Amino acid sequence: MRIIEDTKLDFSDVLISPKRSQLTSRKDADLTRTFTFKHSKHQWSGVPIIASNMDHTGTLEMFEELSRYEMLTALCKFIKWPSPPSNTNLIQTIGLDKNLDELDYDDSQWICLDVANGYTERFNNYVALMRKHEATKNKIIIAGNVCTPEATEEIILAGADIVKIGIGPGSVCTTRKMTGVGFPQLSATIECADAAHGLDGHIITDGGCTVVGDIAKAFGAGADFVMLGGMLAGHKECTGEILGNHMEFYGMSSEEAQLKYYGEKQTHRASEGKKVQVPYRGSVKNTIEEIFGGLRSACTYAGARKLKALPKCTTFVKVNRQLNEVYS
Ligand code: 5GP
Repeated sequence: MRIIEDTKLDFSDVLISPKRSQLTSRKDADLTRTFTFKHSKHQWSGVPIIASNMDHTGTLEMFEELSRYEMLTALCKFIKWPSPPSNTNLIQTIGLDKNLDELDYDDSQWICLDVANGYTERFNNYVALMRKHEATKNKIIIAGNVCTPEATEEIILAGADIVKIGIGPGSVCTTRKMTGVGFPQLSATIECADAAHGLDGHIITDGGCTVVGDIAKAFGAGADFVMLGGMLAGHKECTGEILGNHMEFYGMSSEEAQLKYYGEKQTHRASEGKKVQVPYRGSVKNTIEEIFGGLRSACTYAGARKLKALPKCTTFVKVNRQLNEVYS
């Protein structure tokens, strides 16, 4: 047994300290980024925020709305891939059970291998296979989830362009409670971004953003992309019934999801997700505008003219957590 003595941090453990800034207006802050990816060499420009591939948020309706803002949507793997997709902002999701020979589309330039635990040998071998396989070798390969720098490096070296970071921080995830496993998401983001960037790779920080400030902190910590589930839940573009002024939102490994997609609760695995009711908020447009406004303002406070410069301009201050919770 070993204990890491330094305290690892979550988004709520820090604030971004304001700095002298030459930006005159929030409008001056540019949220667009352009990336060239390590293995595929594809280039992509847009606002690097992604709707999570959960069945509630990873929908075609979400894609339609988010792509107007040059944001990305990871389509839930249980939703039929539209053929042919006309946009470069839609990400295909697969699991380890997918036979790559059966991929019947070749228009998507993105493919995301998404598993709960990216620490298995099988997962790494699958990433390496994807980088060699005819159907996927030229795509922007995203793979995850892990939450430590060594694993991030291994997955990039196996062939992924982007590693998805986050074990346990999700709003409807119960992994930390059910298994005791996890890693505070701000520190995971800082450490894994550093590891990935050293190899010309990129990361998505996935899970744990509950307010716009958390997204700003994630970008400040070095995340190239931020993936959102709960913050985009409860909108017109989501799947699910509107029950009065609420919608149901559940984790993809919750009992609800297992019953819906596998017909039964799988006995070999615990349910590591829960179901919650989220307020119904109408079109996601308003939420996006709120996110953009908050991020532009964060850039202005930190003195970053472009989102790309935010990590360089960010100084985090650790806060007294109890106080932070009182004011949140
Ligand atoms: P949020 O933005 O809601 O905090 O987090 C969204 C992320 O939570 C998803 O992108 C996914 O990685 C993770 N997630 C979704 N469903 C589950 C689940 O049932 N269990 C766990 N452990 N994580 C989940």
